[in-house]
Amino acid sequence: MSRSPSLPERPRLNLDPDMSPDEKLQALQSHYHDVVRVNEKLKQQLRIAHQRRQKLVSNVESFKEENKTLKSSSLYVATTEEILDDGVVIKQHGNNQEVLTEAAVSVREDLEAGDRVAIDDSFGIQRILNPETDARAQAMQVDQSPDVTYEDIGGLDEQILEVCETVEEPLLNPEQFEAVGIEPPAGVLLHGPPGTGKTMLARAVANQTDATFIKMAGSELVQKFIGEGARLVRDLFELAREHEPSVIFIDEIDAIAATRTESKTSGDAEVQRTMMQLLAEMDGFEKRGNIRLIAATNRFDMLDRAILRPGRFDRLIEVPEPDWDGREAILEIHTDAMNLHDDVDLPMLANETTGFSGAELASLATEAGMFAIRDERTEIAMGDFREALEKVRSEDDTNGTPIAFA
Ligand code: ATP
Repeated sequence: MSRSPSLPERPRLNLDPDMSPDEKLQALQSHYHDVVRVNEKLKQQLRIAHQRRQKLVSNVESFKEENKTLKSSSLYVATTEEILDDGVVIKQHGNNQEVLTEAAVSVREDLEAGDRVAIDDSFGIQRILNPETDARAQAMQVDQSPDVTYEDIGGLDEQILEVCETVEEPLLNPEQFEAVGIEPPAGVLLHGPPGTGKTMLARAVANQTDATFIKMAGSELVQKFIGEGARLVRDLFELAREHEPSVIFIDEIDAIAATRTESKTSGDAEVQRTMMQLLAEMDGFEKRGNIRLIAATNRFDMLDRAILRPGRFDRLIEVPEPDWDGREAILEIHTDAMNLHDDVDLPMLANETTGFSGAELASLATEAGMFAIRDERTEIAMGDFREALEKVRSEDDTNGTPIAFA
């Protein structure tokens, strides 16, 4: 808080009895000017003090308001399950307790099954929450026009072909499948090590077909949205229907579809419910419709086989670590826009990066650029790539993933 300004010094009049009348008059005139100046200064300070007072008064008002809000009791979040003539069935988030309750008159009319609502201590529904505050907005990433193209993906020509056949064709030419009398695969599962381009493939196919890309991460569903997994899976498919044509991408599907373990903790039961909902959605899915489903995992070995049955994720596409040709292609893509010195030898870099993933090759190119910038150069030389190699290798060592070098 600012301090009070110091007051100007009070002007003093010193009249010497020995002064001549002229001298006295001059002294009085000069004193008068001093008094006028101090008066002006005091008036200005008074104005500032008034303004400060007004500001403090309005601060007090807003603190009073905040205090009132803090004193009033918090509301809990629940989902309405059924609207009956004599009440509403809700399910509380967190403990999944189902309760038959009443809704406040102000919301009764607008209430629908599936709404997210705020309830008070006695379970009375007080407010309908705006869909914007819904957890699904946080759990799902919606991209109306993803910007990745097949040309941005290196070393995965075969996989691109398979994705075209299984995802792109059913979206662009569904009548072809009808004429032949077969159902396109319901879901496609991309599996392979981290950072090899699985997400890129899914984005690129959405781009190619002008579809909306909707991504949900299995791990987030399980860690952040406890008690809401099954509902979010339902929402995911609903969102996809709202945005048709759309490509649903479930990353880290192993988090919800891992083989069942012996342990029977409540967490397991929750994951189980989420997976059952996913299977139910897939079973009721229009195979020739305008929604395509792609899932990805780094842990194929851990997947529950139920997810791979016909009519579910029945097309498996392996996305492996890039081989020599793949590494060269990926390096070419990521250095395309860079100002490279003539001594940069991409085939040699492909030799030296055995075991690198696409993501690591991308970061190698960026790091080499950073070394040039640090040196105040705009051209990137082979030496920069060598330093970058050291850096990416040491980072990888600290992450604990061994990389083999030629
Ligand atoms: P994760 O399993 O960890 O989710 P992922 O396989 O989905 O990884 P992506 O997210 O597609 O990997 O790739 C991460 C980044 O690595 C991309 O944004 C891109 O810069 C680079 N990359 C990975 N693979 C390739 C590739 N085949 N071609 C070009 N760039 C690639």
